[in-house]
Amino acid sequence: MERPFEEFGSLVFTEVEMEERLPSPVYLAWKKTIASESQLDRPTADAIAHAMKRWAMEHGATHFTHWFQPLTGGTAEKHDAFVEPGSDGEPISRFSGKMLIKGEPDASSFPSGGLRATFEARGYTYWDVTSPVFIKEGVLCIPTVFVSYNGEALDRKEPLLKSLEVLSKYATKVVNKLGDKKVKSCDISVGLEQEYFLIDKKYFDARVDLKICGRTLFGAPATKGQELDDHYFGAIPLRVKAFMKEVNEELWKLGIYAKTEHNEVAPAQFELAPVFSGGNIAVDQNLLIMDVLKKVADKHGFACLLHEKPFDGINGSGKHNNYSIVTDDGQNLFDPGKKPMDNIRFLTFTCAFIEAVDTYPVLLRLAASSAGNDFRLGANEAPPAIISIYLGSYIEDILYSLHSGKRKKEGEVVDSSFEPVKNISYIPHDNTDRNRTSPVAFTGNKFEFRMLGSSMNASFANTVLNTIIANSLKKISEELDTCKTVEEVREKALEICKKIIKKHKRVLFSGDGYSSEWVKEAERRGLPNAKSFIEASKALKDKDVVKLFTSLGVYTETELMANEKILEEEYYNVKEIEIKTLIAMVKRDVLPAMCKEYDFYAKANGEGAPAYLTKRSKKLAELIDATDTSIVKLEETHTSVKKETDTYERGYRTRYEIVPLMQEVRASVDAYEELASKCYYKLPTYEDMLFDL
Ligand code: ADP
Ligand code: MG
Repeated sequence: MERPFEEFGSLVFTEVEMEERLPSPVYLAWKKTIASESQLDRPTADAIAHAMKRWAMEHGATHFTHWFQPLTGGTAEKHDAFVEPGSDGEPISRFSGKMLIKGEPDASSFPSGGLRATFEARGYTYWDVTSPVFIKEGVLCIPTVFVSYNGEALDRKEPLLKSLEVLSKYATKVVNKLGDKKVKSCDISVGLEQEYFLIDKKYFDARVDLKICGRTLFGAPATKGQELDDHYFGAIPLRVKAFMKEVNEELWKLGIYAKTEHNEVAPAQFELAPVFSGGNIAVDQNLLIMDVLKKVADKHGFACLLHEKPFDGINGSGKHNNYSIVTDDGQNLFDPGKKPMDNIRFLTFTCAFIEAVDTYPVLLRLAASSAGNDFRLGANEAPPAIISIYLGSYIEDILYSLHSGKRKKEGEVVDSSFEPVKNISYIPHDNTDRNRTSPVAFTGNKFEFRMLGSSMNASFANTVLNTIIANSLKKISEELDTCKTVEEVREKALEICKKIIKKHKRVLFSGDGYSSEWVKEAERRGLPNAKSFIEASKALKDKDVVKLFTSLGVYTETELMANEKILEEEYYNVKEIEIKTLIAMVKRDVLPAMCKEYDFYAKANGEGAPAYLTKRSKKLAELIDATDTSIVKLEETHTSVKKETDTYERGYRTRYEIVPLMQEVRASVDAYEELASKCYYKLPTYEDMLFDL
């Protein structure tokens, strides 16, 4: 490998590494276990653990950890050193097969939504053999699932793995029935684009809201925002370049194909996109990417903000989830090929996707929701909270022609994305014409789910996508069961597609998703518009959703109820921390500055003083009282909402009673900041944070 990439994958215990380091029978036993999804026997596990430990120690690792994804949405790890006292009192290193496969991290403080009471708090982690083991800061990390004593999922990975299994099952069935009998399994390909902000660490350290909540709770807009669009794809500042270089190097060592990097729309905003990989691995790698971004930023004197909306008035950050389904022999089932109108398999899978999305829109909306993402969805900078699909006119035209019974032949479909450009004799036709305002868009050979928030774990969104599509494919596969010949199957598949388009075309939309007309039009079409995270959380109780997950074995009803509770609690907890931080900052930093400044103008305001001083002190007095009044209201309402015992009610009241009050506080603080003198008001401003890289 050439120089910049020679360390690629050096911190991953890859299959090649395994083959080289394991005795051949052990390696073959491991391969067999993976292929048959059976349990590893003890001797094989011991041999693998031993080789893994040696490899890890050669790379400077001293500890190992079962790396898992608790229901907090992040990742968790508890480190154990390899070192132990040997029988003769000398230290020895030890790592057994049992330690590799199973862990008992206790971890009773993670949210479980009542899935385990503290007296039976035991949670177990089990090695996920489908995601590679790696080294992070001297610790051997073993990706694991995290389950309760009774086997209920306490994490986000276990349901994702189950959903991948059911999707594989039904996608394979449909592919086989449509004539391709070689295919034995399917996986998803996922490419996650990650947006983030970088600010100088000195500003981050000076603002409690950024440190505690990850976002500014107030701050007047800078005199310049993103109106000139001069940051987007602009030259990357040198300091940021050095940071990106190290991020890439770290990611490459972890075997992550970090590929694209560029400035985003808002000032100080950037994006990193890796090459897509298998669903489970892509999600794990995205979690690692977020971790590496934060750590490397710190080394370079930056703070990396992954929050969905760190700054008001400019764009927030998202995470695009590019999604396709691929067969074990590498065929992408969303690839339209050269003749999409004759590609029955492509049409069938696309229709299955359309039906899935239109049947479970609120669930999908929930999968993209978080307290932070509530500031983006539907706020004219990110996809609307109304779920619709943008297919592009080329594919849409084909599907409509199917539906109208006049199935078009090759050459009859007008490819409106084709625009001849002078002096370039041939432009290959490209179905990826874009509509940036759509929450779900077909982009050539994949669907891009654009609603996810930048800080979110992408597991749940992919679990939902896999499950709803598996559900559609299951129905399609059952309908195809009645056919005898492949010809009959193909005819039947077209008929099913026609039916789906007729029933679900309301979810197809190519216009401006940010416009108010669309909100009205969507309502007319009967598309739901769950306005906030908390309202979407009810989806987990919906009887169709419960049936969906339980019938396909992805979640049990108990797990779903627990998850609903956890999400509602999480929403309130995030908000409560914000409320407390806001009140503290206003009392400690803002009101004292306001009063000092008032005092200065009031004192100077004697006989013969300029009228400006009177005006200024009057304005300051007004702002001080307005700020104080709104803080008192916020405190009172918080006290009342806090008493609410029902988690949904509490969340709902937080959203609709507390959030507006926080905005009211913000309005008077921001009004003060606009006229504040630097000698009294010391907090970093939007100018400082956004334009000093
Ligand atoms: P854009 O910003 O135009 O959406 P990017 O290049 O930033 O494009 O990101 C596209 C992402 O989609 C990358 O992560 C890429 O690896 C991923 N991707 C490309 N093809 C597929 C596919 N077939 N399935 C899933 N993801 C894909
Ligand atoms: Mg994108």
